[in-house]
Parts: sequence; C-alpha cells; structure tokens
Amino acid sequence: MIEHPIVSEPRWRDAGFLQSLGPGYWSELPAQPLPEVHWVARNDALAAELGLVDWLRSERALQVLAGNAPARAAPPLASVYSGHQFGVWAGQLGDGRALLLGEIDSPSGAQEIQLKGSGLTPYSRMGDGRAVLRSSIREFLCSEAMHHLGIPTTRALAVVGSPQPVVRETVETAAVVTRVAPSFLRFGHFEHFAHTAGDAAALRRLVDAVIERYFPACREAPVPLLAFAREVALRTARLMAQWQAVGFCHGVMNTDNLSILGLTIDYGPYGFLDGFDPMHICNHSDHQGRYAYARQPGVAWWNLHALAQALLPALGDGDPQQHAHALGEAIEPFKAEFESSMLHLLRAKFGLAAERDDDPKLIDDLLRLMAAERTDYPIAMRRLAGFASAEGAANDGLRDLFIDRAAFDAWGLRYAQRLRDEHSIDAERRLRMNAVNPKFVLRNHLAEQAIRRAQAGDFTETQRLLKVLQRPFDEQPEHEADAGFPPQWAQQIAVSCSS
Ligand code: AMP
Ligand code: MG
Repeated sequence: MIEHPIVSEPRWRDAGFLQSLGPGYWSELPAQPLPEVHWVARNDALAAELGLVDWLRSERALQVLAGNAPARAAPPLASVYSGHQFGVWAGQLGDGRALLLGEIDSPSGAQEIQLKGSGLTPYSRMGDGRAVLRSSIREFLCSEAMHHLGIPTTRALAVVGSPQPVVRETVETAAVVTRVAPSFLRFGHFEHFAHTAGDAAALRRLVDAVIERYFPACREAPVPLLAFAREVALRTARLMAQWQAVGFCHGVMNTDNLSILGLTIDYGPYGFLDGFDPMHICNHSDHQGRYAYARQPGVAWWNLHALAQALLPALGDGDPQQHAHALGEAIEPFKAEFESSMLHLLRAKFGLAAERDDDPKLIDDLLRLMAAERTDYPIAMRRLAGFASAEGAANDGLRDLFIDRAAFDAWGLRYAQRLRDEHSIDAERRLRMNAVNPKFVLRNHLAEQAIRRAQAGDFTETQRLLKVLQRPFDEQPEHEADAGFPPQWAQQIAVSCSS
C-alpha cells in the first residue's frame, strides 16, 4: 500500500496583528500566479524553528510560496505606509510587491509570513510587483547571514523561481522570497497615518496596538507612547552599532526601510565592507553618499526624528511644543546607547576584557590606519585574534596586511602593552575574539557567484553558501576560499536599487 504522509500545514492564526487593525491599514488581495515554478532555495534550519520542515518539502508549499495557491481561507494583505526617501518626503508607498499571508504560531513564537515579489498591489505605483532571482537570492542569503551573526533581522524561509521574464536594466527572471518576522511594520507606517492620511485616531490605534502586542513593558510607563519611542530609539541604536561593528552597509535607509522592532529589513543594494572605507557607498544609485557606511548611525538618528514627528499627533491634546519636547527627550538616549554599544562591541572585537579610558583611542588608531590603507576589514579583524602579545612577537599574518609597517608596529607595541596590562592570555583571548569577529561574511562576490550559478539553473551554490553563512564564526577550513580577499572582478559588481 502506498503511504500518504500527512504533512502538517502551518498553524495560521485566525486574525493576525495587521488584520486585526482593520481595513484602513491594508488591502486584501490574492497573489498573482507565476508559471513553471521551482525551488531555488529552502532554509531547513528556519523551517525546523518554525516546525515546518515537512511542509517546506511539499509540492503544496511550493505552490503557496509561489503565490499560486492560497495559503488559507483568508486572503493575503498588502499594508499601506509612507516614508522619506533619500531625505525627501515621498508620500504614500506601501507593500508594492509584498503580501502578508498571515501569522503562524510556531515553536519560536508568533511569526508573520510574507511573500515578496508576488505581483501587483494597490501600492505598486510604477512598479511591476515582481522581484528578480538575483535580488531574491541576495535577500535570502543576507538575512540568514545577519541572523547567524547575531544581528536582529527579518528571516528568509525560501526562494521560489519562475522563468517569467522581468525587465530591469536587462531582462531577468521572477522569483518570490518568503520572509518571516514577528512584524514587518516600519517607521513609515506611522508617518503614513500622521502625514498622508492625517488621521490621528488611526495613528493612535496603531500606536496602542503596537505597544500592546510588541512593547508590553511600555504599558507600565506614565506615558506609554514616550516609553515606546524611547525603546525604538534604543533598539535602533543597538542595531546601528551591530551594523557598524560587522561592516554592514544597508544602502537604502529610507524611513520606510527601518523596522519599528529594530530589525534589519529590506535587503536591496546592501554590502559588507571589504577594504575599510568609512565613506564606502554600497548603493550605486546613492550619488550623494547619503547612506555611506559611516553615515548610517546619523541617518538612523535622522529617521528617528521623522518617527518622533509622526508620533506627535498621537500624544493628543495639550501643548504641541511640550509634546515635541517630550518626544525629543524620548529618543535622545539613541546617542549614548549607540556609543556605549559600539564601544562594547569594539572592545570585544579587540579582545579587551577590562575597560580603560584610552581604549577608544587605541581602537580608533588602528581603524584610522586601516582607513588610510583600505585594509580588508573582515580579514584584519579576524587576524587580530591571532595577535601574540609577548614582547618582540612578530605578528606577521596581521602585519602583512599593512603597507605602512612602521605605523602598524607602533600601534602593535601599544596594543601588546595594553593586553599585558590586563594579563590577557593569548589562547583564551583568541577564542573570545573568534566568537565575535566572523570569518565568513556575505561579500558581494560570494553572493554574485551564487547568483550566476542560479541564473544558469544550478542552485547548489546558493544552498552551499547558506550553510557556510550559518556558521560565520567557525573555522570551516573546507570553505577557506569564502574567507579570502575579494577577487579583482568584485570591483565591477554594481549594486543599485533595481531589484
Ligand atoms: P525599497 O526602497 O526597495 O524598499 O522600495 C520602496 C517602495 O517601492 C516600496 O513601497 C516598495 O514596495 C516599492 N517597490 C519596489 N520595487 C517594486 C516593484 N518592482 N514593484 C512594485 N513596487 C515596488
Ligand atoms: Mg522597502
């Protein structure tokens, strides 16, 4: 007798958070089907966390995640938001190519499941509602890479591909990424109800519901909204510190691309630093360098002001000036939190267990030298773990990365002395440092190799790279090539907003 294993479906909640807000916040609509769909990548590790391992292997999952079959009785939702793009108010935006299938109960809590690239929505504006294979693989790999680096992010469960042509600079093919997060709400959702809809009651409802569901600790505060604004500022500050420490550049930090939960969201023209260049611009379309690496924390601060501005009408009656002042105070801790998080992360990256007043100077001096020479950031930080602190130690592996050997040697003497001062034990420190300085980051050329293979119909490289990136701190000697310097051709890779 043929056995028919019963594959358990995702456990959809009847009414998810977004749906329960009511129709002013979204539009209901089905996904647009795609022809001849196939799996491009599946994330078994995430599927296991969600209790969906068997489901993800099923033909039904393929059709659901392609947008070809309904996930459940209730139709998907596209949410409406607005935002500031490149510092300019852009008005209404919204999920132009994303659809929320719903919210599931899982062993790791409630999670929203969203398709990206599933067709036109009422918010598609001039777009086609689609995502191409290239950008979908980039999002899939990077969100998982970030998660395993310990950086808050939306997750990616799968990528489905289709031969359907999609026109960008060239003709590419369509794909759909399945994204997973407790919520995909952005700063822009709040800006929408404050400025575009001009509906203080709707804004208030959104704020109250978000606090109730995602920031319950803020309910106890005298003014929950202010506590909420403060908490968002703190989370954003910590996220920025994590981005900076690992050398991650987002590329499009518009207010509609900043998560209210402090997650990394909307992977487009992102990049990881190769050579250390504070003014590195990863987005080819960012001509002014507004979102350059070193500017990210400042941009986040700017975006928090936009959020505070949007929250103003939700404070209700009273003196507007006083309210503005209170909101300003609420987000103010961003700066101190960013600085202390950054210093904490950098001390760990430099293997400094004790805290000394001149640590920032010591750290900064190496970074300045690296900036002057464009020293490879991930490789230099990883090699720093092998630094021998004994007097006269050669430290060639690290030293060889620098052109100005004298400058490095001078710094090395100070560092060695600093380590000896805290009685640092080399072997023990190396273990600590290797657990915070990743060996493997998703450099552009690694993603590009996986993409080129996938575009030729071979998805094994995407799956292999996913596995490597799920253990970024482990040595994995068999994948040494993924931890090397970027090849010459990597400089030709141009990543723009087009996705
Ligand atoms: P982004 O900056 O890429 O996150 O996108 C900004 C806005 O444009 C969002 O509202 C997206 O939903 C929308 N958008 C981007 N690409 C497309 C597309 N191909 N079709 C429809 N909407 C899109
Ligand atoms: Mg976006």
